[in-house]
Formats: sequence, C-alpha cells, structure tokens
Amino acid sequence: MKHKSMLVSILTLKCPRCRQGAFLEANPYKLSKMNKVREHCPKCGLKYHIEPSFYTGSMYVSYGVGVAVAVAVFVILAIFDLIDDPLIIFLAILGTLILTFPYIGAVSKSIWAHMFIKFDKDIAEKVKNGDL
Ligand SMILES: [Zn+2]
Repeated sequence: MKHKSMLVSILTLKCPRCRQGAFLEANPYKLSKMNKVREHCPKCGLKYHIEPSFYTGSMYVSYGVGVAVAVAVFVILAIFDLIDDPLIIFLAILGTLILTFPYIGAVSKSIWAHMFIKFDKDIAEKVKNGDL
C-alpha cells in the first residue's frame, strides 16, 4: 500500500509516525490556537510532546524556512525585473513573511517532529485498515 511521502506529510501537517493523523489542534491561521501541537495523534496515539519544551528547537528551523521564503520572493521579483528599488524588495519580503508566518511556524514544528520521530510502516498500515 502506498503511503504519503515525508514532504507531503510535513507540508500537510500530519503525524510523523503514521502520516495520517492531524498534528496541530487547529488550522495555523486560527490565531487563538496558533500552532498549538496536539497532545497525541488522533489516529495512532503517538505522544507528540517527547519532552518538556520539545518544540522550542523548531525556532531554528523557522529561521531557515523564513530565509528560504525571503530568497524565493527576491528570485520572483528578479524574474519580473522589479529589483531596481530596494524599498519594493523590502516591502515585498516583509509582506510575504507577515502573511505566511503562521504557516511557517506550523511547518517548522512539523519539520522538527519529523526529524526526531520516524515513520512506522506497520502502524501506518494498521491505521489505514482501521485496526488501531
Ligand atoms: Zn499518528
């Protein structure tokens, strides 16, 4: 049976072990519960909080993802030949980062969890077949 790739699991904010259960309590743009990680996976029961303050380290990932987004905006501006005015570059990067920061934070936590929790094919099969 085919399973989601790690990249799809990270981008769709799924459980790192079964790649099917929701990782966050709500959509990242729901600001009252912004980027709040669930206690357990609703599908396989994995405890998401391995240790206290586990997701603090995702700030390092968040920095890298933010820089990647800024570089991508700059490249897009360069393709459309809009890099004459530094103010336009600054405002475009700032605007994009403000609009995407909830998702960047969520994806960073997902990347962090996927770095430490391995995918388990047997559990994913059980979840898919409804045996778990
Ligand atoms: Zn799971």
